[in-house]
Amino acid sequence: MRRKRLVILGATGSIGASTLRVIAAHPDLFEVVGLAAGRDTAKLRELAARFNVRNLALADSDDPTIPHGKQALCDLAAHPDADLTVMAIAGMAGYEPTLAAIEAGHDVALATKEVLVMAGEEVMRRRAAKGVRILPLDSEHSALFQALQGEAYRPACVRTADEPAAEARVAEAILTASGGPFLRRKELDWKRVTVAEALNHPRWRMGPKVTIDSATMMNKGLELIEAIHLFNLRPDQLRVWIHPQSIVHSLVRFRDGALLAQLGVADMALPIQYALTWPDRAADAPVEPLSLAQMQGLEFIEPDLSRFPCLHLVFEALPQGTWTHPILTLANEVAVRAFLAGRITADRIAAVIEEALAAGPAPFDAILRQAEASVDRFAAS
Ligand code: MG
Repeated sequence: MRRKRLVILGATGSIGASTLRVIAAHPDLFEVVGLAAGRDTAKLRELAARFNVRNLALADSDDPTIPHGKQALCDLAAHPDADLTVMAIAGMAGYEPTLAAIEAGHDVALATKEVLVMAGEEVMRRRAAKGVRILPLDSEHSALFQALQGEAYRPACVRTADEPAAEARVAEAILTASGGPFLRRKELDWKRVTVAEALNHPRWRMGPKVTIDSATMMNKGLELIEAIHLFNLRPDQLRVWIHPQSIVHSLVRFRDGALLAQLGVADMALPIQYALTWPDRAADAPVEPLSLAQMQGLEFIEPDLSRFPCLHLVFEALPQGTWTHPILTLANEVAVRAFLAGRITADRIAAVIEEALAAGPAPFDAILRQAEASVDRFAAS
């Protein structure tokens, strides 16, 4: 069988590293034909040498020998030698390369949340028109995707027009959340939460933005939006439960009452390998298998939304429509940046989002301006 040819955007980040770990474990299955990164030229060259890759791109570089800029990323994402594009560039910078990969007819293994949160309807429409698949890389969405696979129906992100819809069989989809560092704090006063405390995540090592989002549980809110688009679910079909052990990665309850889940150790190599080998399952993921002994005392806790105002705002906003999706992510991004910079206290993150939602539907730049004005006002008060 011919090896699957991959390009990886975001190769030097943590998802990129896990992806390359999976690829290194399966030289018979995969070949890397292109690598892109933000600005770490040295690291990109090192990976290119190790995986024998000639096609490179950087978002930003002063090295004239490597193509750089938005067009270079789009060209790499759409490279004619590739079968599948792994999209792991952080933030909205992943948007245009994702569309370029879809237009080129590549399947996309998607880690970049913002692409679906900001433009999910457009991305899913274009992928359906092109007949390509969006394969989720996030651990929760991979779990839902795996639970939604069935003989007689298909999840929306990979379905062709004549196949029956998995979501029509779904009663509810339950995303699990670790609960972050403040789950068991007695008196949770967001006004007093420090940046260092919020960055101290109990389970996953991630970048600062997503770690703060885990502490506020806004991360789970953004994942609900991803799930709406990937699986064509309605907001009233979505639930969040806290599961501090991070072993059950998410669950689907079907209309017959059956509850299906995917379980595993907390290692991104597992969902990544599933996306890269889908619809097959390859042997030997480079991950310790989960033992039943590790599954003693699993806990499931319904989140107390009065303690997590960001998640509360998401649940209030989602039934109002998809116009709320970019507001939730952009206002949160501005507020988290200001919190990390020490400009506002943690309780203001929800306040910035709430003000942005109250202003109603708006173009992206207007949402950003409004959120920045809220931050400036809170920083001065
Ligand atoms: Mg996740």
